[in-house]
Amino acid sequence: MPATLNDYMSKHQNDSPEDISKLKSLFNGTIYIIRQVLGNAAFRAYSREKGAYMEKFSPTVYDSIVVPFSYFSKNSLMRHADEIREKITDIILNDKEYANYVEKSTSSKSSVIGRITKIYNAILTCMSDNDLSGEKRIFSPSIKAALYYDGYVCSYCGNKILHIEDAEIDHTIPFSLGGVTDISNAQLLHRHCNREKSNNMSENDDWTIDEDDE
Ligand SMILES: [Zn+2]
Repeated sequence: MPATLNDYMSKHQNDSPEDISKLKSLFNGTIYIIRQVLGNAAFRAYSREKGAYMEKFSPTVYDSIVVPFSYFSKNSLMRHADEIREKITDIILNDKEYANYVEKSTSSKSSVIGRITKIYNAILTCMSDNDLSGEKRIFSPSIKAALYYDGYVCSYCGNKILHIEDAEIDHTIPFSLGGVTDISNAQLLHRHCNREKSNNMSENDDWTIDEDDE
């Protein structure tokens, strides 16, 4: 998630190159979406002297792209594919700082973090607030207080929610169907109604529910 990139970076800034390469393999699931957005030149460096993309796969360009992409949802990335492609292509072709990060002392901490952060920030500028709130699934607790009023009716059971402590925040349009996590898509349900609602949705997905599970 975007807000945690700094935490992530500080957690991993002292990783050895071996650790970093292990981390990279965790991001392989992101490759498909990167190919969709960036096309076949996705992981190739650009040579200024030759004025062309290099034939060979570049591991440094690779990590600078795979790590940031893994922080955004597939939907958000696809929605802004053209903008993202343009921004990243511009960096690969024209950004001297980026060129140093992918070509010189490529496994140094500052190069790894530098190139990843540059691509991450480029993607971030293409995203709208809606995309970013859509990335997270948990509502901030302040939304509950903002929504609640005396006599608020639970839309699951149709009864009033008598105390704010009995309420939980629910996605009106389910998160799994692309509903965003902000106040425009939030409603309050009784705690037990919210649980029942999500159990019912899970049953529809053929998930097994443990009866005793609270
Ligand atoms: Zn209810």
